[in-house]
Amino acid sequence: MIHMHNVSKIYENGAVALQNVDIDIEKGEFVFIVGASGAGKSTFVKMLLREVLPTQGSLVVNGRNVLEMAATEVPYLRRGLGVIFQDYRLLTEKTVYENIAFAMQVIEAPRREMQKCVNNVLDVVGLKDKYKCFPSQLSGGEQQRVAIARAIVNHPQIVIADEPTGNLDPDTSWGIMDIFTRINKAGTTIVMATHDKTIVDTMHKRVVAIEDGRIARDEMEGAYGYED
Ligand code: ADP
Ligand code: ADP
Repeated sequence: MIHMHNVSKIYENGAVALQNVDIDIEKGEFVFIVGASGAGKSTFVKMLLREVLPTQGSLVVNGRNVLEMAATEVPYLRRGLGVIFQDYRLLTEKTVYENIAFAMQVIEAPRREMQKCVNNVLDVVGLKDKYKCFPSQLSGGEQQRVAIARAIVNHPQIVIADEPTGNLDPDTSWGIMDIFTRINKAGTTIVMATHDKTIVDTMHKRVVAIEDGRIARDEMEGAYGYED
């Protein structure tokens, strides 16, 4: 699914964000990316989406070579990736239903299929009753569940989440993790950058620790490994 070999990223200002990173993530894995602020986690995530290009190395995501890809191929890469951010990034002028449907309109899905799929994912995230609400009428946890529904409605092979529980209280965060667990059990690969020690230590999934742009640890059934 994800094959990163000897990847480095040096930003224009000289900041070294990643150095000689090697990592392979296979279909169906659930991987936590941990590390201090500034370690390189966001750069790693943005590279998978091709929002940031490696300075050197090779990167294949879903069978697509990210470095040698034509600009016209980028939308196809991103279609295979469902992305979730700490701050939800919903469209404030659209309802829950419209926020999710919008992701399918972009790929020109037929109307009937769209209705069926939006209803299905609303069920997956437990928000069937709230489809007419606007984001401002929802709690943070509910908004994040809308963002997850939007991210999975087109059946991505990989879900990439950058601090998805960063703004949520522990109970609400576990609701989000339960949804990720279900999506993962259905076969979707999950890559989640997080600072949530309790979640990482409880779930016993693969843990990749980044320190100063390098992979410091990569453990199956790993732990958070830091104090906070
Ligand atoms: P994290 O997500 O772990 O906090 P980042 O990937 O955001 O880490 O940052 C890694 C390093 O790259 C930091 O030193 C940061 O200052 C630098 N950096 C991140 N984005 C940029 C950018 N757009 N331009 C210059 N430097 C950047
Ligand atoms: P359908 O093909 O009718 O959309 P599936 O049985 O394939 O439904 O999927 C089960 C439910 O999960 C559906 O409601 C589907 O929309 C939703 N879903 C969408 N993407 C994913 C995903 N990546 N992982 C798990 N469930 C997903």
